[in-house]
Amino acid sequence: MAIDVEKKRREEVQTVREIIKIYCRGHKHKRNPGDTLCRDCQFMADYALQRLEKCPRMDIKTFCSVCPIHCYGQQEAAKIKEIMRYGGPRMLFVHPLMALRHILIEWRTRHGLRKKEAVVRR
Ligand SMILES: [Zn+2]
Repeated sequence: MAIDVEKKRREEVQTVREIIKIYCRGHKHKRNPGDTLCRDCQFMADYALQRLEKCPRMDIKTFCSVCPIHCYGQQEAAKIKEIMRYGGPRMLFVHPLMALRHILIEWRTRHGLRKKEAVVRR
């Protein structure tokens, strides 16, 4: 089955950005007028984006949360986890379709990854 890697990458980038936005607004971070995110959250968004752009496993993994390679630094990993815990469930209300797709793909990955990994890993 052919997988549109770039489409998946774009979708993941979009999802991550939305979740960080929800987190930033929910915590009433101080933003400069016209900015979508505060400086800290913008940093995390850029960081996540960079990781995604360099991700070599886009074709087999779906979301960073279920990826066995932890390419995030320790601090960044803790921060993004906090953001996801806050923003993830709230996505259901703000972007129900995007959230449902995320949940579905994540569930499928968790239940199918092990088998696929064994084949792909050298
Ligand atoms: Zn923020």
